[in-house]
Amino acid sequence: MNLNQLRREAILAAEDVLADLNSEEGAKVPVFDLIEDRGIWLSFQPLDRLLGVYQRIGNVAGVAINVARPLAMQRFTAAHELGHHELGHESHVDDDSTIEGRNSDPKELQALLVTG
Ligand SMILES: [Zn+2]
Repeated sequence: MNLNQLRREAILAAEDVLADLNSEEGAKVPVFDLIEDRGIWLSFQPLDRLLGVYQRIGNVAGVAINVARPLAMQRFTAAHELGHHELGHESHVDDDSTIEGRNSDPKELQALLVTG
């Protein structure tokens, strides 16, 4: 899959998520609620050198967010992890390099596209 296809898939996933919201344009996206509304386990904990984790085992999925980071970073990381879920990705561990776009894994880049 080339970058344009990855981008298209990411945009469609983001539009699907936002369509469920029924909120005004420009309103703050309740990303933590969106994760929980999908039945994804959500936890906040101090994570050594990690910003977030997405784990999928069969039909069960979970997201862990590093509570030691600023709230804005937690929200951004949560959106990224939700992107992994919506795109059907397998488990991922995210550190600064993935969230800042320095990781060349196409699935990491695609999950970042969902956030923006
Ligand atoms: Zn990731």
